[in-house]
Amino acid sequence: MKIADFIGNTRLVHLLTRGKLPPSTLFAGPDGVGKRTLALLLAARADCRESGGSDVCGTCRSCQKALQTVVAPASRDENVALSSIIQDHPDIVLVRPGLLDPAKEKRRRKPPFSIGIDTIRLLDTEAHYRPFESRHRFFVVDEAEKMTTEAANSLLKTLEEPPSTTSIILVTAFPQQLLPTIRSRCQKFVFLPLSRAEIAQHLTNTTSLENCQLRACFSNGSVGKALELDLETVLGERDEMLTLLEAWVTRPRFQTIFERCEKEPLRTKLRKKIGSMSFLDSLLTLCHDVYYLQVDTSKRVVNEDQIDRLRRISDGLTLEALRDLISGVVEAQQDIKRNVNPRMCFETLWLKTS
Ligand SMILES: [Zn+2]
Repeated sequence: MKIADFIGNTRLVHLLTRGKLPPSTLFAGPDGVGKRTLALLLAARADCRESGGSDVCGTCRSCQKALQTVVAPASRDENVALSSIIQDHPDIVLVRPGLLDPAKEKRRRKPPFSIGIDTIRLLDTEAHYRPFESRHRFFVVDEAEKMTTEAANSLLKTLEEPPSTTSIILVTAFPQQLLPTIRSRCQKFVFLPLSRAEIAQHLTNTTSLENCQLRACFSNGSVGKALELDLETVLGERDEMLTLLEAWVTRPRFQTIFERCEKEPLRTKLRKKIGSMSFLDSLLTLCHDVYYLQVDTSKRVVNEDQIDRLRRISDGLTLEALRDLISGVVEAQQDIKRNVNPRMCFETLWLKTS
């Protein structure tokens, strides 16, 4: 992969590739938009021996080592020895939660892993070495918000004044969880969610065109989410909610809802918190789509492939009833999170719109 192949956030990529990176940077933005990948590509570009700094060449020894890290970053749940903080490329180091202290992490058994003081102390020491093979050393700290307070504090001095041959890139989807003292020492670059067309472009080689477009619609701008999505389940839930909305618009009586809740798949799914939340997510997206149609912003409709059904639902609902329904769904989600019986929450939300 080259920087020229990077999809999305075009202006930001242009800005970042125009010159040299600042010594301490923060890449912030939602998961699955390529923050870590771009950080590693920029590092690889700086150390590339052939391309002259415009992109990675992909073939020189430095690029080959660096791009292995881009393609297959270190597994976070393996027992990783202390020395392996240096991965394939000695001058491009990817730090991730759970990389060190394997014994401690193993006892914890499951995420969230943290980035502890030992890891950051090692980074600190390494950051002051001159490059081994290249012109510059890069330290990319992924999920930087998982640094413990102790670890973050120990990074402050290096972050403020790294040696001239070292750059540190912190990557996070939750910049607000970083210490203000960390944030203030970094130049921040914000990544935005990708457009549907950009996501579909990413997926082109992995699935059919129709699936690409559907996945892009449900991805919220994240390639990661688009790839992980269980499309069959999502479409099944959506169809159930669409049918329910259509029945409600034709016959807005509580009996309509009660009858559907007695049948599968709702009957089983509404017994559990996760199952009911996922139906409510689907219902909320559909309600928002109907709202976009009513206020004439149809470009924002997520379920584009069901636009005719959505238009019919829109014709049968007043804006006021729709607003009541949307606030009913949001309240139901909050109640279910507080462990109120999911089926009761699901049934009563419709009472507010009748
Ligand atoms: Zn190269």
